[in-house]
Amino acid sequence: MNELILIVEDEQDVAELVRYNLEKQGYRTVIADNGERAITVVQCFEPDLVLLDVMLPELNGWGVCETLRASSKGKSLPVIMLTALSAEENRIKGLSLGADDYVSKPFSVRELLLKVGKLLEKRRAITALLKKESEQDSSFRFLVHELKNSVSIIGGFSSLAAAKSDPGRYMGHIASTALHMENLLNDASLLAKLEGGTGSLSREPVFLGELAKDTIETFGAEASARGMTVSLSDAPSAVVWGNKTVIRQILVNLLSNALKYGRQGGRVRIALHERNKWIDIAVRDEGPGIPKNELPKIFDKFYRGAESKTMAGSGLGLFVVKLFAHALGGTVSAASELGKGSTFTVSLGRVRSAQSPPSAAA
Ligand code: ADP
Repeated sequence: MNELILIVEDEQDVAELVRYNLEKQGYRTVIADNGERAITVVQCFEPDLVLLDVMLPELNGWGVCETLRASSKGKSLPVIMLTALSAEENRIKGLSLGADDYVSKPFSVRELLLKVGKLLEKRRAITALLKKESEQDSSFRFLVHELKNSVSIIGGFSSLAAAKSDPGRYMGHIASTALHMENLLNDASLLAKLEGGTGSLSREPVFLGELAKDTIETFGAEASARGMTVSLSDAPSAVVWGNKTVIRQILVNLLSNALKYGRQGGRVRIALHERNKWIDIAVRDEGPGIPKNELPKIFDKFYRGAESKTMAGSGLGLFVVKLFAHALGGTVSAASELGKGSTFTVSLGRVRSAQSPPSAAA
């Protein structure tokens, strides 16, 4: 709680009393001693709430309230009127001009703090909701954009294939674009489920060795096209209590990155390690590595490294890996050395016996 509150009050002792009590609660404050200054402070400092005295010289509190409501920065700003005028008519006037609440002078500090706390709580909830909506909206627009691009790439290569005498040349592009679309749709539908908070993931014992072998096979053609090898070092009881679809997608995203960013002709190694209550899944490549300044950002939604922007991608892959690993009660980390390669490690709760799920992960 570090919100900024604008106190609009021309009586200095009242302003200081309010400031003292608000700062004691952990809020930041700024004081304006007339209406015009109040409007300037709102435009420049964008406070989170305004305590507005009615009786101000020149532009009074009602005028300030009306002006704020007509401006983009003030239209949804919580405003509490501080008024010595307790007559019903005056309270109604304040509320009808867009104030959210009022406190009659002389006021009780407890009542004032309570009203401030309630309005700020409401504002936080609305801000969080708007943020979520705009993120979902941008994810949707992004998905449509990526799919449209992919469809036109497939269309373009298909027309070329139909017109040329050597259509086989274009099939690789068509297949890899179709795979990109499939990954994107898989990520998006699982993401929507998790981000929307709808339903929990079903759980079952997942045998990681088998799942990794299966997943590696699906990348056989891609790996050989790049002259790369993919190996697996299994652990005898690498069984986790998780969701097979979600873990498969984690492996798919890490493996496809390792092949995309790894060194042509190089190795990709997947290793499963048992560590106390955890199974670590490490995916290691011999690519150029990730610059130190990019490493903390690679799990952010839509983040793409500077060198990667020329390659196909969405910036969603690692974000999805992180979200999925967390949804399963696990973690993910990345280590990288420039010129040597990168290792991504996902740790998931281990099942000692397939019949008895660990209580923490169940
Ligand atoms: P995308 O691959 O679509 O760009 P990701 O979320 O999968 O998106 O990855 C984010 C960024 O992290 C990539 O753009 C790239 O810069 C970096 N990255 C991911 N995996 C690797 C890797 N194995 N080697 C080097 N850089 C990687």
